[in-house]
Amino acid sequence: MIFRSIVTAKIGFHINVHVVQEERKDIIMRIDAHAHGMHAELKDGRRIPPLMSPWKETIVTPEEHIRQHNALGIEKVLLLDPPEITFELKRVFGDFVISCPQVEMDKSSPEEIAAILDRGACGIKFIAPMHPYGDDRYLPLYEVIRDYRALAVFHTGYLAHEFFDPGGVLPRPNWIDISDMRPSEIDRINRAFPDLKILMAHFGNPWWEEAWTMLKSNKNIYADLSGGTAYEKSMGMWKDLFAPNGKLNTNVVSKLCYGADSWMFHAGHFDYQRLMEFYDNLYDELRLPDEIRLKIDRENILMLTGRKNQ
Ligand SMILES: [Zn+2]
Repeated sequence: MIFRSIVTAKIGFHINVHVVQEERKDIIMRIDAHAHGMHAELKDGRRIPPLMSPWKETIVTPEEHIRQHNALGIEKVLLLDPPEITFELKRVFGDFVISCPQVEMDKSSPEEIAAILDRGACGIKFIAPMHPYGDDRYLPLYEVIRDYRALAVFHTGYLAHEFFDPGGVLPRPNWIDISDMRPSEIDRINRAFPDLKILMAHFGNPWWEEAWTMLKSNKNIYADLSGGTAYEKSMGMWKDLFAPNGKLNTNVVSKLCYGADSWMFHAGHFDYQRLMEFYDNLYDELRLPDEIRLKIDRENILMLTGRKNQ
């Protein structure tokens, strides 16, 4: 049984945020499988370089910031920013951060991937390619990750304009094509490297059915419902996908991970409650047993990010 109440919490100095408090004896601490910190100033609706770490220790200490996340039910996060920012935040926040840096895959090399994993990253995040994810040219990158028994996180589906458009903060050499990031592209990667652990971020938005088929048909492919769209779709759509005709598809739903896609290192900023509520509503609507909730909230991502004994 979960009792919820909206309260106003005082976070840091002069900052009031509304949070959803849950009082539950057996509350499960979540691990957020999709987190960001990278920051760039916003000017006239555009993000302008340089890209930087958002963390400023002027409001709260790192320990206090972690404590505030813990109080809201977040134990640690998978951080998916470029290497210099991910490793810097890892240095400041220690165990709260699981490093999974993103690379510009059209400029990257197997050596760069190996170097990042040698620095202790649990995996690599891929996003905004100039060619389809399943293209031959990228396979050597995935092979290194497979050999390290690390995790490959793929942004799947729609990508906002802010960061990756030409002239943006992480500019690609040309306009991206979101169909290069369809879930169906992940299928070819799984055929080439069936042992490679894959997390499809954003459940392929708007190619939900394709994402579902990837989970259903392929081993070692997991997905999260993070981002700005999945939680806006009707609960009826998700019920139909995960429990067609009222019959829970345990195999598919057990391969979800909790993820929010929020800024987690801006002091006083905690806007992931809507995603938590969405996940909780989904669990309740599907009447998920506790062992599956536990997998989604933390066990799956712990398994995917552990490089030992895999
Ligand atoms: Zn993201």
